[in-house]
Parts: sequence; C-alpha cells; structure tokens
Amino acid sequence: LSDRLQSIFGGLRSKGRLTEDDINAAMREIRMALLEADVNFKVVKSFVARTKERCLTAEVLDSLTPAQNVIKVVLDELTRLLGETDSRLVLSSRIPNVIMLVGLQGSGKTTASAKLAYLLKQQNHNPLLVACDVYRPAAADQLQTLGDEMGVRVYRGDGQDPVRIAKEGVQDAIDNLRDVVIIDTAGRLHVDEQMMQEARDIKEATKPDQILMVVDAMTGQDVVNVASAFAEQVDFDGVIMSKMDGDARGGGALSIREVTGKPIKFISQGEKPDSLEEFHPDRMAKRILGMGDVVSLIESATKLQEEQMEAEQTERMMKAQLNLNDFLEMNKRVRKMGGISKLVSALPGGDKALSQGQVDTSALDRMENIIFSMTAEERLHPDILNGSRRARIARGAGVSVTEVNQVMKKFNETKKMLKQMMPAEDMSSGRKGKK
Ligand code: GDP
Ligand code: MG
Repeated sequence: LSDRLQSIFGGLRSKGRLTEDDINAAMREIRMALLEADVNFKVVKSFVARTKERCLTAEVLDSLTPAQNVIKVVLDELTRLLGETDSRLVLSSRIPNVIMLVGLQGSGKTTASAKLAYLLKQQNHNPLLVACDVYRPAAADQLQTLGDEMGVRVYRGDGQDPVRIAKEGVQDAIDNLRDVVIIDTAGRLHVDEQMMQEARDIKEATKPDQILMVVDAMTGQDVVNVASAFAEQVDFDGVIMSKMDGDARGGGALSIREVTGKPIKFISQGEKPDSLEEFHPDRMAKRILGMGDVVSLIESATKLQEEQMEAEQTERMMKAQLNLNDFLEMNKRVRKMGGISKLVSALPGGDKALSQGQVDTSALDRMENIIFSMTAEERLHPDILNGSRRARIARGAGVSVTEVNQVMKKFNETKKMLKQMMPAEDMSSGRKGKK
C-alpha cells in the first residue's frame, strides 16, 4: 500500500499543475488506504468528498507545490476528524472518583484498568481496582496479579454478583482512604443484551464520574457497531485504543470518533503497566494513511520552503534563471535538511543512490567559500565570470582555478537539472521525460 501511495504522490509531484483527474486518482488511493485501515466505509465516503472539495480549490491546484498541498489537506482533514487532543484524565472533585471501563471481552479492559491505576499512582493518587468480571474465574486473579505488582489494592468481594461487588468496592475505597475507584467489568465476545444490562446496572449503582470504552485496535469494520451499541445503551465519555503496539493501523479510531463523537483519550501499547500513552491525532492520521516516511519528507521540505523560499526566487528557478545567490540558498537548505544523504535516502530508491557514492557535505563548505569570494555582480550574473575573474576568485578563496571551475560546472549542471524538472512554460518545448 505504501508503495502505491508513494507512486501516486510521486506521480503528482512531478507534474506542475494538477487537474481534477489527478485529484480523483489521488482520492481513489486515499480511499483504498482508509478502507484497508478498517475505517468504516461511510466515514471514508464523506471524508473523501470533503477532502476532494478542499483539494479542488485554486489555492491548492495553482500553488507551486500542489502535490504537497494535497497531502497536507488530507492529513489536516484526518487530524481534524480524529479530534482534539485531550488525553488528560480529568477527575471531578468527588471522592472517591469512580472510573468504569467497558468493552468487549479481550479488548484489553483488565490491562487498561491496571495501566490507569499505574498512571494515577504516578500522579500521587491512591487508586483501588475493583474486579467485576465474575464470569471468567481467572479474570479476578489477573487483576489481582497486576495490582500486586504495582502495589495497588484490589477489591474482589464475593466474586459472584458484579453489581454488588462494584457497590461494595466504592465503600471499600472509602474505608481504606482510596481516592479513585477503577471498575473493571466483564465483556462478552459480541454485543449482547446481558452485558449491556449489567453495565447499566453497575453504572446505576456506582454513578461513575467517567466511563471509558476500551477498543482493540485490531477490531475491523465491526468496531463502529460495537461502539455505537455501547454509546446508545450505556453511554461512555472517551475511548482507550488498546494493542496499538501491533501493526494495526487504527482506522477504527477514526470511525468511532466520527460515528459516536467520543474522543480517543489514550493509546495502550503493550502489556506493561506504564504503556498507556497520550493520544496524538496527527500521529494517528499518519499511521492510518501508512505513509510516515513520505509524509515526513514532504513536511520537512514544505516547512523549509515556507520559511525560506521566496516567490521571486522560486520563479527564477522555474524559469531556470538561477543565479549564484540562489545556489547558496539551495546549499543552505540541503544542509538544514540534515544533509543531502538523509534527504536522498528518504526518497524511494534513495538507498541505492547513496551506496553508489557517499555524498560529501564538506563539498558544500568549499563551494560556499568560493562563492563568498565573488562580487555581488558576479553572483547575480554568473555569465560574466571570465578567466581573469576566476583567477581573482581563486586567489581570494585560497583555492586553485580548477576548483572554481568545478563549482561553476556544478552550478550549471544544477541549473540544467532544474530546467528539466520544472514544467516548461510554453508547450512547444514538449518535455516528455519521466522525472
Ligand atoms: P479484557 O478481556 O477486556 O479484560 O482484556 P485483557 O486486558 O485481559 O486483554 C486481553 C489480552 O490482550 C491479554 O492477553 C492482554 O495481555 C492483551 N493486551 C491487552 N492490552 C494490550 C496491549 O496494549 N498490547 C498488547 N500487545 N496486548 C494487550
Ligand atoms: Mg478482563
């Protein structure tokens, strides 16, 4: 998939202006990427429609870097859809505060309960874990083990009646001076009425300050139905996405947010208690699209461009009227990107290019040194650099004339290369190259 995205964006990038057909092709790929990440098809449909509309504006199409802008729009929209970041665990003033976890069996509730307890302990709270899964004999033991490891008290009651255990758990917290109660409930393999009724009863008996739904990131398309059922029948305040340490793309997060409007609060990755992490919508957006490397490359290029590339200079480059000041700027940019080797290796096939000749950044230093020995006039109009001027520059820079000539050769090559890369202004020059 990543390959496919790379090729489509690569294709877009090499073009100057984008047409509606180009956008349509890109949207088809985005659509596939989202579906493969298990984003609900209805969500995909409205997302693509919205994104396409934004891409078809003159602002994007007529910009100097339309392909980058398309990617930017896609990521912006995805990030927006995933919602604001609010990963704080907000406790109300009530003591003890009650947090209830719901979700299907195996979604990661018990693990997440322990992780929450760990987080709270870090924040100087004194949590109590309550084991309300009475159906699987090992369930309470599992919570007990996790609690023991962290030094957190676990209340199990009679191990029979979940509603009673929950209620007694809150009282146990009061008796033992615990300020937060975390209720770990039982799930079922599928949405069923008994599970929902039990969750409602526990909710009624303990009046939780917040209910968090735990969702396994590996759950496919069905996640929307499950989340909607819990939202309607029990209601919850936020989502913990578990098992994000696997290779799940986490498209379900997007669907849940869009369909239920509930925020993703935490990302759980791993079985260790300290692996509960804040949710970052921008990272999630990239993960869902599965295009980390391509995006970060484009982003760094775009950012530098915004910072430095002035329209005037860009226009000169487009017309291949590069002067030596522009050339200096370009070198500076290459340097800022962490050296050309990093840039090249980030490009598809770049590793191969690198192995065929290590790029030397000290060459950049020498080149700059020579250009600095030129007059302003010479930098703006490199054509006037005749033999005697070159000799003077060589003396000034403390190098041989050959080295000055080499810099000029490089400069002319770059100029030529840019000319080939930029779209020809008049069609008569009919450039057909692939690059
Ligand atoms: P519950 O039935 O909802 O209470 O789910 P559990 O907390 O018992 O988790 C089910 C299984 O998934 C267990 O084997 C956990 O160790 C595992 N698990 C839970 N959360 C994570 C996670 O974030 N990453 C990984 N890799 N495994 C997890
Ligand atoms: Mg459990």
